[in-house]
Amino acid sequence: MKPIAQITQPILRLVCLLLVSFGLMAPVQAASLVKDIRLGVSETRTRVVLDLSERVDFRVFLLDKPRRVVIDLPSLDWPTTGPEISKPGISKKDELVSGLRFGQFTAGKSRLVIDAARPVKVAKSFVLAPSSGLPHRLVVDLVPSTAKDFASQVKKDRETSRAVNRKTAKAAPPPAFKPRSKKNAKPVIVIDAGHGGVDPGAQGKKAKEKNVTLDFTRELAKQLRATGKYKVYLTRNRDIYIPLRQRVNIARKHNADLFISIHADAIQRKNVRGMSIYTLSETASDKEAASLARKENQSDIIAGIDFADQPSEVADILIDLAQRETKNLSVKFAKLVVDNARNKTNLLDRTHRFAGFRVLKAPDVPSVLIELGFLTNRKDEKQLVTSSWRRKVAGALVKSVDGFFRGTRIALAQ
Ligand code: ZN
Repeated sequence: MKPIAQITQPILRLVCLLLVSFGLMAPVQAASLVKDIRLGVSETRTRVVLDLSERVDFRVFLLDKPRRVVIDLPSLDWPTTGPEISKPGISKKDELVSGLRFGQFTAGKSRLVIDAARPVKVAKSFVLAPSSGLPHRLVVDLVPSTAKDFASQVKKDRETSRAVNRKTAKAAPPPAFKPRSKKNAKPVIVIDAGHGGVDPGAQGKKAKEKNVTLDFTRELAKQLRATGKYKVYLTRNRDIYIPLRQRVNIARKHNADLFISIHADAIQRKNVRGMSIYTLSETASDKEAASLARKENQSDIIAGIDFADQPSEVADILIDLAQRETKNLSVKFAKLVVDNARNKTNLLDRTHRFAGFRVLKAPDVPSVLIELGFLTNRKDEKQLVTSSWRRKVAGALVKSVDGFFRGTRIALAQ
């Protein structure tokens, strides 16, 4: 006679299989859901609560310059809007939190970043099991602290982060500088959708910059690929944050011949509209370009990147030489874009400008940053989310790319 377990196990397996096929047991785990984010502000502390569909692991740490509290979590489905940061009866000087954002950070990781208005301390952080009708809750309590204590906690957290990073994947070093030497290969174009994930970028009435840039980037990639003339790569093809330096490294890793970073601007004066294009320069062409570069360079801070953990800039004697050539080519492409886009969309006056954008700093890849328009302008926002407008403007960019490589090829052949 067979032992009972030997008979029941196959039967159990069959039952499970049937249940799975009828959808009664979920064989695949869906991402956990953040049902709500709440902020409770009192005189003595600020409590951040995440309502969750299930228990998750988390890590809280502090970052400085500027002061931030970061909560790292597994990939989660986040609500589309965050909580109102209401401060009932709290005077400005007692405020602990000045901003909050969340979203996908890297593969498998999402992040909530809290801007600290002054030095704070994480007094408590814990997960509560469901009770009295409430779901799993992640609770983080912030209380006032001193600049000195904040700084020393940042240092401690940084050491822990480094130990964690050493255990997991090591950050890849930037690709070595190599002068390009390819004659017959298809030109390589890397298109970069600005912002993403935890960094939403500029905000229109409805549209978010991170979505506008991704939609446009996909359209541009589609049209470029359709010509059959180019190899096209995207720095991101989903709602995820990519650090600025990594975007540059992606272009260099692919040995790109052209890097196009796509953005959309926002400005207080709501009547300002039109497209503009930027190339790298240490001295900005005007105040507006300088402040725009500062704003775009904030991207890593917004996403909660620790600069102390970044490897130092690539240093190479060849870079200086290549940079001049790269800058000339970038300017050449920018001029073509201005010419070709003129009849397709509104242009900002002095359309081509210069400033120190971090994402344009590949020494060996001609790079431009295009601000498609202003999300703060009603007409621009409407256009930016329209597929026919995207098609038209992407078409103008394809024409510019064609012109750029035609010219470059002739120059190389001479
Ligand atoms: Zn941007």
